[in-house]
Amino acid sequence: MNNIKKAYYAHWIIVTPYKILKNSYLICKNNKILNITGQKPLDAEIIELADKTLMPGLINAHTHTELSAIAPHIKYNKDFISWIEDIKRIKENISYEQIKQSAAKTYQGLYNLGCIAVGDISTSGLTKEEFIDSKLYGTWFKEYLGNENEVDNCQEIKAIKQGKNISLAIHSLYSTHSELIKSIKQSTGKNLCSIHLAEHSLELEFITSKKGKWKEFLDSRGLIYDDWQLPNTSPINYAQNLGILDENLLAVHLLYCKDEDFKILKNFNVNTCICPRSNLNLHNKLPDINKMQKCNLNPALGTDSLASTESLSIFDEMKFILDNYKNISENKIFEMATINGAKSLKVQNLFGTLEQGKIAKFLCVDICPTKPDNIIKEIIKEGGYSIEWIE
Ligand SMILES: [Zn+2]
Repeated sequence: MNNIKKAYYAHWIIVTPYKILKNSYLICKNNKILNITGQKPLDAEIIELADKTLMPGLINAHTHTELSAIAPHIKYNKDFISWIEDIKRIKENISYEQIKQSAAKTYQGLYNLGCIAVGDISTSGLTKEEFIDSKLYGTWFKEYLGNENEVDNCQEIKAIKQGKNISLAIHSLYSTHSELIKSIKQSTGKNLCSIHLAEHSLELEFITSKKGKWKEFLDSRGLIYDDWQLPNTSPINYAQNLGILDENLLAVHLLYCKDEDFKILKNFNVNTCICPRSNLNLHNKLPDINKMQKCNLNPALGTDSLASTESLSIFDEMKFILDNYKNISENKIFEMATINGAKSLKVQNLFGTLEQGKIAKFLCVDICPTKPDNIIKEIIKEGGYSIEWIE
């Protein structure tokens, strides 16, 4: 798409889940959406998609493409510590080149699955060039953990282009020195910073008592945690005490949160992301989306890595929520996968809806019901099988 004005005529255009237009034209020029109208424009090239539906690209706000290479060798029906040990052991037998090649394939695979922006975590730092070369927007995070004193490559925090950024992530509160956590957050400033937060029971136990199986695991690996600022009353309280909660933090998982924790996250405008299929596979527990919504949090969706879930498809994640949460409407699920995800990655000016001014890259779905009533539900159930990018 370039400086020629094009008008995509489709049976349905999902501008947002609450604004679905029939027999309309999506008009684009210079890679931007100009407007949407029911009137046939006379000055544009018309592209007929009469029996199709147009919708925004999806957002996967949390994954680890660098783990794709090891995923075929991992079983996730084990306890969390054995899973971590397996990942570490298998990683040692995989070459850097394999990790990079597999990540490149994964980025293309994500795009083919209808994903336009990603929050991708890399501990190794190996996959940055592959992200830069990929079609995806969003943020690639270099992740830190352990007792390193300071962040060594703050200079890497930068924008590749509008909506495509390199930044830093904190692995978690239970794996990272308090000072390093603060230093990473300070280094990222107004850029996005990601963290796994309140993910599992061992984390909760360690943060609140400095005891338990996670303590034993750190002891076995010789990691000293004496001067970490623990214990605390909850992971969210600890994060608050460290001063890292703000609108530039992307908090992922939030499985072990009470109402008051969600309220704190809301008060600090923290971006939230949930990965339900991974949570079920690794922790046999699901995030409480109802409670999050009651506290006015609007979570994004992530899949986490192929080491803990069956696919990186956000269509699959949406379908899983539709099948497993009876009180969450399909419109809310669709919002999680689109506008909530775009907001969480700070690309809401470019993606997340098909409104004027956004980038003219969107999905054409081979679904065309006569009425719009069930269209979102149908897309969630079937959409992932029949998508095509228009760009
Ligand atoms: Zn993760």
